[in-house]
Amino acid sequence: MALIVQKYGGTSVGTTERIKNVARRVAKWKAQGHDVVVVVSAMSGETNRLIALAKEIQDYPDPRELDVVVSTGEQVTIGLLAMALKEIGVPAKSYCGWQVKVVTDQAHTKARIQSIDDEAMRGDLKEGRVVIVAGFQGVDEEGSITTLGRGGSDTSAVALAAALKADECQIYTDVDGVYTTDPRVVPEARRLKTVTFEEMIEMASLGSKVLQIRSVEFAGKYKVRLRVLSSFEDEGEGTLITFEEDESMEKAVVAGIAFDRNEARINVKGVPDKPGIAYQILGPIADANIEVDMIIQNVGENGTTDFSFTVPRGEFNRALTILREVQTHIGAAKIDADDKVAKISIVGVGMRSHCGIASTMFRTLAEEGINIQMISTSEIKVSVLVDEKYLELAVRVLHKAFGLDQAA
Ligand code: ADP
Ligand code: ASP
Ligand code: MG
Repeated sequence: MALIVQKYGGTSVGTTERIKNVARRVAKWKAQGHDVVVVVSAMSGETNRLIALAKEIQDYPDPRELDVVVSTGEQVTIGLLAMALKEIGVPAKSYCGWQVKVVTDQAHTKARIQSIDDEAMRGDLKEGRVVIVAGFQGVDEEGSITTLGRGGSDTSAVALAAALKADECQIYTDVDGVYTTDPRVVPEARRLKTVTFEEMIEMASLGSKVLQIRSVEFAGKYKVRLRVLSSFEDEGEGTLITFEEDESMEKAVVAGIAFDRNEARINVKGVPDKPGIAYQILGPIADANIEVDMIIQNVGENGTTDFSFTVPRGEFNRALTILREVQTHIGAAKIDADDKVAKISIVGVGMRSHCGIASTMFRTLAEEGINIQMISTSEIKVSVLVDEKYLELAVRVLHKAFGLDQAA
């Protein structure tokens, strides 16, 4: 008998019929003698709908009140799932984040979990009940409802699994595992039987939204056994997130390709090439709490240089306004910008011991006439920024070039 935490995403609870399916799956695990804690997302589309409602009232909704609104999606699905379980004779009880308590910091809309009280849940499990917890939600020390950022139910699930010392955390979604790249973009993408924590963290942070990055970080920190599976198939082992040490040496050099459309590029041209210029440009951006991702400063010529960086697309206009305000003070000749760019990244722990990976990537893109605007690298990834209109083509040709469409 094991203690299992299962998380069902928005599509998996998107209709009452699907909620009944989830109930049947949970009942099966329970019938096998396992203790089951279930975390659910809101019905698919619901969180977007709630955010849109808030924006009809305020262009920049008040973060505390926005959390009050967007957290309601999950309150509906926990109640419905508890009913569906009771309907088929399985005792169950639902909990909102604040009822558990999932205590977070006060960073509304992107709060971090600080502690989880497992007492009530353990009591329920002991008495044979399935525990159902609303994903995405927490409560701060003042009792205000918080949310964990988009896709945050993954993190709720892994954090609960860590707190309960569960044997496994299963993330049920609309694909049957983690693929070499998003199967919606490359139909030839293959499911990975295993992927290392390090690779999964990179893929999640570089745009593969199959798992929220914080959930992977949590799993790594607390050594939670984490598996991604399909909620639409009865069989299948999904993808297990593993530690590198467990891996055979035969693993592919590139494990997967991630991409991110949430990028916008800003070029500050003809700035004086002197100490402090990077700070003068990026200081006001950081002060406005805008995250900067890729950065390039070119070699100077005639005492001036060009400086480029990327910001999330939603912050593009704000970042440009800030820079235009300081342009004269910085002494920049020109600012140009493009919010139709995308970042593509190849990821693999095998890159550490292989050279020539980046050059294969650059050659493959060159052969398709795709211009690379920016590059950034780490030990286990290479990212390039390209015109968004080439995104799908670029991912497809890279997937082929690195042999990812062939069985491992
Ligand atoms: P859920 O609602 O269950 O949380 P998400 O939409 O957040 O589901 O995540 C699942 C989706 O992630 C898939 O439908 C797929 O399109 C996308 N995805 C992106 N990259 C990958 C990848 N490498 N492997 C699998 N799915 C991926
Ligand atoms: N419902 C939230 C969202 O759409 C959380 C989640 O689904 O994980 O972002
Ligand atoms: Mg998700």
